[in-house]
Amino acid sequence: MENKNAKQLVLWGLAFIFVILVFQNMKTPPLEKEIPYSEFKSKVKAGEVTQVRVRADLIRGEYKDGGQSRRFKTLPMPDLKLVEDMESAKVPHFQGEPDRSWVTSLIMNLGWIVLFFARWYVLVVRQVQVGGKQALSFGRSRAKMVDDKKAKKTTFADVAGCDESKEELQEVVEFLKSPDKFQKLGGKMPRGVLLFGAPGTGKTLLARAVAGEAGVPFFMASASEFVEMFVGVGASRVRDLFDQAKKAAPSVIFVDELDAVGRHRFAGIGGGHDEREQTLNQLLIELDGFEQNQGIILIAATNRPDVIDPALLRPGRFDRQIFIPVPHLKGREEILRVHAKAVKLGPDADLSIVARRTVGFSGADLANVINEAALLAARRGKEAVDLSDLEESIERVMAGPKKRSNLMSDHEKKIVAYHECGHALVAKLLPHTDPVHKVSIVSRGHALGYTLQLPKEDKYLTTRTEMNNRLAVLLGGRSAEEMVFSDVTSGAADDLAKATAFASKMVMEFGMSERLGALSLKKPDQEIFLGRDIAQKGGYSERTAEIIDEEVKRIVDEAQAKARDLLQKNKKILDDLAAKLFDSEVISGEDIDVIVQGAPA
Ligand code: ADP
Ligand code: MG
Ligand code: ZN
Repeated sequence: MENKNAKQLVLWGLAFIFVILVFQNMKTPPLEKEIPYSEFKSKVKAGEVTQVRVRADLIRGEYKDGGQSRRFKTLPMPDLKLVEDMESAKVPHFQGEPDRSWVTSLIMNLGWIVLFFARWYVLVVRQVQVGGKQALSFGRSRAKMVDDKKAKKTTFADVAGCDESKEELQEVVEFLKSPDKFQKLGGKMPRGVLLFGAPGTGKTLLARAVAGEAGVPFFMASASEFVEMFVGVGASRVRDLFDQAKKAAPSVIFVDELDAVGRHRFAGIGGGHDEREQTLNQLLIELDGFEQNQGIILIAATNRPDVIDPALLRPGRFDRQIFIPVPHLKGREEILRVHAKAVKLGPDADLSIVARRTVGFSGADLANVINEAALLAARRGKEAVDLSDLEESIERVMAGPKKRSNLMSDHEKKIVAYHECGHALVAKLLPHTDPVHKVSIVSRGHALGYTLQLPKEDKYLTTRTEMNNRLAVLLGGRSAEEMVFSDVTSGAADDLAKATAFASKMVMEFGMSERLGALSLKKPDQEIFLGRDIAQKGGYSERTAEIIDEEVKRIVDEAQAKARDLLQKNKKILDDLAAKLFDSEVISGEDIDVIVQGAPA
């Protein structure tokens, strides 16, 4: 296409030059002889000139040369006496001429005009013709149907390091395999499954594997495509996508980048983006219109679950949400193994070493490591990929085009390990706190690590003691950092925000401050109108506001003192926990129990 354009342009250019040359020649008949002005004047004075036509830019005419009449042309000069001279020399015929008529100009410029249209034709008309099918079917979704028979079937075996997520999806697979069975038993299936997790963690891969495992067609579209082009197109594309999938049911529809259409509709000044909203509404209509057990599952992916419109998460819509984590040590090794199947590894290429050195790498990064290493080995003419290739490729991927914010140095890793263990240990030691289920130092979202506490049972009431203990757990991370490194980091910002908000609630909503008593000082809920969180005034005096601040500070300070005290008394356990976490990146609640009980009290 590019090439053809260039050729056409050259051809048009040549044609243009040809046309210009022809005009030049027509304008200047071949027998016209160019003479200098001085010669022209002397010929006039000598009475040889018989005819003169004067233009602003050219003088032409005829003169007698012996018995013959010759044509001449000359460039005019500022000469006020020319007419006088011609009169006195009795030139028989002289006249003025208009410069150039518009017709001449048009003809002169025709070349340019032609060239312009030629370009326009090439650039615009041809484009539309080439994309003709697209141009005429803007409304049709560009959903790709991935044919399992042609492509290699993707299965769960191709996805590693996220066993829990796979388990959760297994049910969906069973449903797709035999929707009627579920129907008979009266089982209700989720209509939508939302996969969320950092980029490159395998969301797309998992969705495809669900279809592959169930052996059903897979329709894929990116939500950003819905809204990218013309107004009103997004909604019809969604409709079309679902129509296609329904015809092929049972099937899987995969919508990538759901946040592109599914953002909270009223966030921000001026409400939502119209096109996006229409698309989102259509998506909701389609979701609600799913007949039970029609055999279609909508899987969507996002790395911004926090901005998804709550309307999408209601029961009957994306009611199943599955988190896809950044892989841990063991998971990383498994992912490396999956991708290493395609390459030949040397005897010293130990993938567990690679896994150890790639903290924070996503599945896509790891696939990249194997791929780069294979390329390096090939470039070096090796028979197999060895450890040095792998090590160099890790560095390449690390330094890659993407800024890697989730890679930590060993020192940072140590700080995060202590921080998380601070939370975990305080939670372990204080009564009335939720049991610690898991502690991790592999980043999840924007947090560097996390401590996962799961409540034993649903609770509807929380006592003041429980709340104070929860605050101490929140502040345990920062306290541990302070204690061990005699310094604090920015990593605790989120904890502090949570603790402050929590303490404020205790004071203002739950009446848990003696000084203020059983007052509710809660701010009234307001319509979100001009953006969120625009300062609202509560209905209390300045003095009360001051006391509120003091009370919040007191509660937070007391909680921190409690955390610090506990950690100091159990420094040895904290060290052991942190060392174990540093090593294996993730520890379970049982691991913690073992370490805590193993240490002498
Ligand atoms: P996401 O959709 O979460 O951004 P993808 O599914 O597109 O990530 O992953 C990109 C590629 O990275 C996949 O095609 C696969 O090669 C590799 N990959 C990612 N996660 C995994 C995993 N858990 N197991 C194996 N390969 C993975
Ligand atoms: Mg993806
Ligand atoms: Zn923390």
